[in-house]
Amino acid sequence: MTPIRSTVELSDGRELVYFDEKPESGRSAYPDTRELPPPPPASQLRYDPLVDEWIAVAAHRQTRTFLPPSDACPLCPTTPRFASEIPAPDYDVVVFENQFPSFSYREVPGGEITELTDMVPVRPGLGRCEVVCFTSDHNSAFGALPPSRVRTVIDALADRTAEMSRLPGVAQVFPFENRGVEIGVTLHHPHGQIYAYPMVPPRTAAMLRAARKHAERTGGRNLYADVLAAEQEAKVRVIGSNEHWTAYVPAAARWPFEVHVAPHRRVADLPGLTDDERDAFGPLYLDVLRRFDGLFGKPMPYISAWHQAVVGDGRDLGYLHLQLFSIRRAADKLKYLAGSESAMGAFVSDVVPEKAAQLLRDAL
Ligand SMILES: [Zn+2]
Repeated sequence: MTPIRSTVELSDGRELVYFDEKPESGRSAYPDTRELPPPPPASQLRYDPLVDEWIAVAAHRQTRTFLPPSDACPLCPTTPRFASEIPAPDYDVVVFENQFPSFSYREVPGGEITELTDMVPVRPGLGRCEVVCFTSDHNSAFGALPPSRVRTVIDALADRTAEMSRLPGVAQVFPFENRGVEIGVTLHHPHGQIYAYPMVPPRTAAMLRAARKHAERTGGRNLYADVLAAEQEAKVRVIGSNEHWTAYVPAAARWPFEVHVAPHRRVADLPGLTDDERDAFGPLYLDVLRRFDGLFGKPMPYISAWHQAVVGDGRDLGYLHLQLFSIRRAADKLKYLAGSESAMGAFVSDVVPEKAAQLLRDAL
């Protein structure tokens, strides 16, 4: 049931971890034979005093691989003709350090990180970014995986969350998937990413403020648990559920199509899920993804984001949940983040959440 984990080192020193569903003998029999440049140094974190947020500046990401042909896909298994990021001839699920990370522990050579002004502190973007390949099949998609593979992916994400939460200075571990060129995907191969942030990201900070206020007002009740209970009771925005999870459109959804998938039991993060909860996630999530693709009869571009508890202060306020949303608002229309959303952070939604829930329920 639990995948078999083996670690190898890529030729530039980055770590790669296989999560195999069956015993695979000798993962180390396939060393990385490529000659690679040394990984880039850490990005720069600059403090924006106007909004009290940290911005990561990672200029090296401009040079990353952009939509390569399928015979030069860095996420496919290595073949005699092309050495990819994965040295082996096949894999189930594999995770490795991003070659073009937004955060890493490779310090900038002395002196390059200096204060810009008294108002703008700067620090190195120490953290970790990993890539997760869900399947060795280049032309597949997460929604086409069998539930058993989704389980392996969840186990891999839980493993990485536990490990990256222990890294120095990491404030939150964020697994996510971007799907579709409309979202800005630069590799077609089905994959996700994991960011270990050295700071609490702005949306998490806002959620923590709200959760803390709610706890104070209600004698310690958990905000997300109360929201989930209210949605289960109201039913009108629920897309589906099983013994352990419920999928619903948030009442104040900001994206044209947005679904939360939440466990019924409050857990801080993926490592906190039981075997039964991990098994039950795949069937419901795959059903929601099929409904997304069914909405307009073509693959939906989407972002799938795991919200986990922070590592430090505020961890007790967290409630693990997945936020899935699309920027497609009609068959041939995308929602762009324009003036109100981009400049002011004030969302104007084009689809009524109850209508979105109805469309998703009818989408199969
Ligand atoms: Zn590929």
